[in-house]
Amino acid sequence: MKYFADEYRHIERWKGLRKDLFRNEEPAVKLIGMTTPTEEMLSQGVTPETLPAYTARQSHESAGTHEDDLRLNKKLISWEHLTCLEAVQFVYCVTGVSKSLAGQWTRHRIGIGWTFRSTRYVKASKNMFIYPALEYLDSEDMAKAAYRAYEREHRHAMEVYEELKDLGIRNQELRRLMPVGWSTAAYVYVNARSLRHFFELRLDKSAEWEIRRLAYLMFNDVMKIAPTLFEDLLE
Ligand SMILES: Cc1cc2nc3c(=O)[nH]c(=O)nc-3n(C[C@H](O)[C@H](O)[C@H](O)COP(=O)(O)OP(=O)(O)OC[C@H]3O[C@@H](n4cnc5c(N)ncnc54)[C@H](O)[C@@H]3O)c2cc1C
Repeated sequence: MKYFADEYRHIERWKGLRKDLFRNEEPAVKLIGMTTPTEEMLSQGVTPETLPAYTARQSHESAGTHEDDLRLNKKLISWEHLTCLEAVQFVYCVTGVSKSLAGQWTRHRIGIGWTFRSTRYVKASKNMFIYPALEYLDSEDMAKAAYRAYEREHRHAMEVYEELKDLGIRNQELRRLMPVGWSTAAYVYVNARSLRHFFELRLDKSAEWEIRRLAYLMFNDVMKIAPTLFEDLLE
């Protein structure tokens, strides 16, 4: 299976150095749901991946095999006949991403939505930090020194947090202390068309490193279940 393996390896070149850093959390994505055809459709050979092609056949009242529909998916994408990709919705659980990433991600408005962990209701004392990838640094010593500086700041933020908490300051104000590298988690609901748009913008080298890393993780995962809807993006 083709996917962004080299790019992911490169962006994670210093991952080993982050292992024991103070409250370090690494990103993870887990698919927890996906649109599934009804029993009747499944018995006719329609799968979650071929729903777009199957429904697109409405326009010509044509019919085809499962393999025909996989091929048709790719043609639909090349013709930019993309509405039928809205037939497939994915639900991902995403953890170990920063508040900074959330700010960028939620700029995507169409065909995508989230439920984020609340920083009003969930105590920050349990929270973690996202350390930057620093993949552009070629010296391991420099990367270690940079991580130590981040670590110092994260410890400091938690110390002030505890000090203010002991003074009776509420969670909704305490959260303002936290740096944008503070971790969050979300369920994201996104259809295949919108996910492609996210990938088009965020797999690109011009995208910021953290959202690009998330795009690699999601792309590599979704390629295992519906490759015909996404594989052209590798070209
Ligand atoms: C490399 C990079 C750098 C960026 N830098 C910055 C930055 O410095 N500052 C900043 O503020 N943002 C920045 N952004 C965010 C960017 O401007 C978009 O807000 C974000 O990528 C979402 O893209 P979108 O609007 O296409 O997505 P969506 O909101 O999901 O929209 C999808 C598509 O629907 C259509 N659409 C949606 N809403 C409307 C509308 N109201 N009217 C007409 N058509 C609409 C458009 O065709 C759009 O492409 C950056 C993004 C990238 C990828």
